[in-house]
Amino acid sequence: MAAEFYRPERRATGDDDADEGVDGSSGVSAPCGDSHGPNGFDLHALSGNLCRCTGYRPIRDAAYALGRPHPEDPLVRRCASAAPAAATTSVAAEDGWFLRPATLAEALDRLAQDPETVVIAGATDLGVGRNIRHARPRSLLAIDHLPELQAITWADDAVEIGAAATLSEIERTVSGRVPLVAQLLPQFASRLIRNSATLGGNLGTASPIGDAAPALLALDAELDLVSADGRRTVPLKDFFTGYRQTVRTAGELIRAVRIPLPLQPHTAFHKIAKRRFDDISSVAVAYAVTLRDGHVDDVRIGLGGVAATPLRALAAEDALRGREWTPATVDEAASVLRAEGTPMDDLRASADYRAEMLAQSLHRFLAEREDREDRPEEPVKEETRP
Ligand SMILES: Cc1cc2nc3c(=O)[nH]c(=O)nc-3n(C[C@H](O)[C@H](O)[C@H](O)COP(=O)(O)OP(=O)(O)OC[C@H]3O[C@@H](n4cnc5c(N)ncnc54)[C@H](O)[C@@H]3O)c2cc1C
Repeated sequence: MAAEFYRPERRATGDDDADEGVDGSSGVSAPCGDSHGPNGFDLHALSGNLCRCTGYRPIRDAAYALGRPHPEDPLVRRCASAAPAAATTSVAAEDGWFLRPATLAEALDRLAQDPETVVIAGATDLGVGRNIRHARPRSLLAIDHLPELQAITWADDAVEIGAAATLSEIERTVSGRVPLVAQLLPQFASRLIRNSATLGGNLGTASPIGDAAPALLALDAELDLVSADGRRTVPLKDFFTGYRQTVRTAGELIRAVRIPLPLQPHTAFHKIAKRRFDDISSVAVAYAVTLRDGHVDDVRIGLGGVAATPLRALAAEDALRGREWTPATVDEAASVLRAEGTPMDDLRASADYRAEMLAQSLHRFLAEREDREDRPEEPVKEETRP
């Protein structure tokens, strides 16, 4: 096929070396006004690539100058049809094995036989461990194809999100109805990562700076844990027990995350990081608040990055609950929030900065509420990062 070449419109940005990504967060505006080029090229496909030599615009221009793939191209044809049904994949080698079972029962059986097995979902965290820390688990159990872990179901009293549903799938099916999730996910990594990453993986790492935990704590989520011996439900607030430690036992999988309904009407997710996109949080704060007659009827605040585990800001919640929703109340509660957790100095931020960001976040939440004149949240639109 003759390649169709396009001459992309060149626009000066004045900031080609900005510390942002090629997906347009550098401020480069795409010729088509969104994140796709005139040849259909999706800039998200390059997100996460950092360039210090040419700047991002030439990379974008080169991508937009590529022809379209031939309609008979095997990948184009594959993308046009539904994914094949899950099948068991099993690979054994001298020094280990890999199993991708097709059913949950098979997965739990294998976990029961070999509790040292490492569970792998989207591999966006484990892959970094392999790449950077040269971690080589002896046995891997891939759970990303298990239908029992992918379902997203709605009932009157809860939405249940399968632990292996990808974040992109959650954006498509949950974000429109759970505004806090709609605020969280566009700030989580990039589209490429969200296409593979899962909530089970984010909570499974038990990272104190994982972004999902603060939001899910504010939403009062519970986890459904499953093993060959049965099931149990654990409130997320009781899940983390120490630095990268949880109550999950070796034979257990996180099957699903349950968010109770109805939702609190006022929510926000504030991620403070060095880069706007594709960065890990220095501090994350999530709010879920109900105001009634100008008073704080109920409040939950989830925090990340200020302790060995994600945690609820219980003292700040107490400082707000039942009080009149005024700048004076928020001032007082912000001082309490500033002292929550045990923040530390590290490469991302100092302990003082982290504490200050907590206080600032509550002031920002107040300002955002005033802006919206006390209206409940509107779901955030799908982000396109021009
Ligand atoms: C470029 C990049 C950007 C990133 N940005 C962010 C970000 O903005 N915010 C953020 O929070 N994280 C970020 N991450 C980290 C990572 O993407 C997330 O933690 C993600 O949610 C992990 O999900 P996964 O399915 O890929 O987990 P995996 O890598 O497959 O697994 C992670 C851990 O969880 C365990 N696990 C997985 N599923 C289950 C389950 N169902 N039950 C029990 N244990 C389980 C695994 O055994 C493993 O220990 C980023 C990573 C990369 C590479």
